[in-house]
Amino acid sequence: MTAVRTTCAYCGVGCGVSATVTGGRQVDIRGDVDHPANRGRLCSKGTHLGETVGLEGRLLHPEIAGKKVGWDRALDLVARRFADAIRRHGPDSVAFYVSGQLLTEDYYVANKLMKGFIGSSNIDTNSRLCMSSAVVGHNRAFGEDVVPASYDDLDAADLFVLVGSNTAWCHPVVYQRIQAARAARGAQLVVVDPRRTETCEDADLHLALRPGSDVALMNGLLAHCRREGLLDAGFLRDSVNIPEGFWEALDAHGDAGAVATTCDVALEDLQRFFHLFSARPRTVTLFSQGVNQSVRGSDQVNAIINVHLATGRIGKPGAAPFSITGQPNAMGGREVGGLASTLAAHMDFAPENVARLARFWGAQDVAAKPGLKAVDLFRRMREGRIKALWVMATNPAVSLPDANMAREALAACPFVVVSDCIADTDTSSHAHVKLPALAWGEKDGTVTNSERVISRQRAFLPPAGEAKPDWWIITQVARRMGWESAFYYARPADIYREHARLSTYQNAGARLFNIGAHAAISNAAYDAMEPWRWGGAPFADGRFSTPDRRARLVKVEQRALPAPLERWPLTLNTGRYRDHWHTMTRTGLSPRLARHRQEPLIEIHAADAIACGLKDGELARVETPQGASIYRVGISEGQRRGEIFAPIHWTDQQSSGGRTGLLPRPTVDPHSGQPGFKLTPARVDPF
Ligand code: SF4
Repeated sequence: MTAVRTTCAYCGVGCGVSATVTGGRQVDIRGDVDHPANRGRLCSKGTHLGETVGLEGRLLHPEIAGKKVGWDRALDLVARRFADAIRRHGPDSVAFYVSGQLLTEDYYVANKLMKGFIGSSNIDTNSRLCMSSAVVGHNRAFGEDVVPASYDDLDAADLFVLVGSNTAWCHPVVYQRIQAARAARGAQLVVVDPRRTETCEDADLHLALRPGSDVALMNGLLAHCRREGLLDAGFLRDSVNIPEGFWEALDAHGDAGAVATTCDVALEDLQRFFHLFSARPRTVTLFSQGVNQSVRGSDQVNAIINVHLATGRIGKPGAAPFSITGQPNAMGGREVGGLASTLAAHMDFAPENVARLARFWGAQDVAAKPGLKAVDLFRRMREGRIKALWVMATNPAVSLPDANMAREALAACPFVVVSDCIADTDTSSHAHVKLPALAWGEKDGTVTNSERVISRQRAFLPPAGEAKPDWWIITQVARRMGWESAFYYARPADIYREHARLSTYQNAGARLFNIGAHAAISNAAYDAMEPWRWGGAPFADGRFSTPDRRARLVKVEQRALPAPLERWPLTLNTGRYRDHWHTMTRTGLSPRLARHRQEPLIEIHAADAIACGLKDGELARVETPQGASIYRVGISEGQRRGEIFAPIHWTDQQSSGGRTGLLPRPTVDPHSGQPGFKLTPARVDPF
């Protein structure tokens, strides 16, 4: 069989993959040398994708109450129960919880059904847990959720600042590109992360700052730049609005010694960072979950963007703040309004935008206000106020903070639908109806990666059992709910064209929407589509998406950091392992990936281990106010005193221990609603 060019199923790097079926469901996987994201490179997860496409664990047929049924019966029941709930309790009594694993076409129709026709914005996505603080930061600074960077900037930068990102493990091909730039041009690498991760091993400088002190660090850097005359006065004058009192507030961060104390880093290391930043204007600051997954995530994002705006390090080759996303299609969901807080095509809920959507969709009841963000949605569900929930391609019973709360919410919901490619998940154990969805290798559509390059995912395997595309399942329910003509699509290209038309519909001000050129793309051209970049090269002209076309500095302050509590003397941080993905439904199928880390460790500093009575390799019980789980102890020099680290991947399905989802507290950033996974008070005791 000839090779099929598609896109990796995992992270937001969005690597191109060349897949060749060699017999049955045996597939040879290579990196796509023509894809701009990876130019043939793949990491271990991408390389072993071929081991994950078997039928083991797949959901092959629709089920009602655990019994196999036909598609018509299942779809009829879903449509009827959602319609009943809406009629009796109103549109806000139902909800969708979707996923960055969905393709853009799936996301588009889910959002259209909920916001356009059901008339509620209660559709949120697991991307809320991943990068919603970056969305807020972009909107506040640029007037739009625009990523002002591309991977080409990695090839032009002289300094990389990685903040809250174990890039070597979580975005490995980006890390490879950074390393290539360092080898080629002597670019420097600074890692800002409380943990000494694998990304730090080869860094020029590692700032192991106190968790939660990122605003102090970035404000201190900006104060240093101002003191040293490094601000770009012309750019600030022509392109940036500065709020009243901004510089006065920054003066409080002018003392490098005080910043070093707040961040708990050595003053000489801090000054070295400032010096590197001063000397290398072509700086890319990449940030990820260590910044976003915080109750101060939005402010931390804006503290980074402030530095880039004030020093003019944006809109130029090799100079940008760069949010690297976790999931394969978190960005595609953002484009089509997959978050409860946005409409499609980057529109907010201004009345003219709601009216524009109503005209475009021919819909009477377009939602006029934002819906419930993920954590609030499940809280409301636990109170019995959500009567029907549809979970698509995600596992909130594991991945939401305080997973016990999420389970209680699912148990309290009278009607739960799960559409997924996996048969048994912690979430689907609560489902009244299970709908089998296509998996990677069977799906067809588009995804958008961290730099907003849109790529095709193409099918190279037949559907497993009776599995169907997510877009088909959603539109079949919509049509049964009475919206036949609005949801008639024969193929994903039909949906993509509509998405492209909407992006520029009566929207002449949206200069970044070059996707409008695809409004009439032919089926053949869609099938053959090469990776291309939504939005071109934003801000190269110094013009932004705000009404006055000027960016905004955002005043952000470092808050006092809480002291450890007697009962909870440690702070729990969570994250990924190199060779696993989310809840391991796919990577758990690969023997070679499983070899990297076979069980979940609680990583702890040696002095804390002694204080807690723990020995390396023995079992320990980690407890937080939300729950407890058992881990094997891994004493690690990479941990700061007082902090412990646990991986997110293990679930009830894989293990009785390592249930990290039970532990984080469900507090969220007030602007973005993103949970603060990284800072949970905890204790560890011998088991
Ligand atoms: Fe896949 Fe991400 Fe690895 Fe690329 S870096 S191969 S997208 S997991």
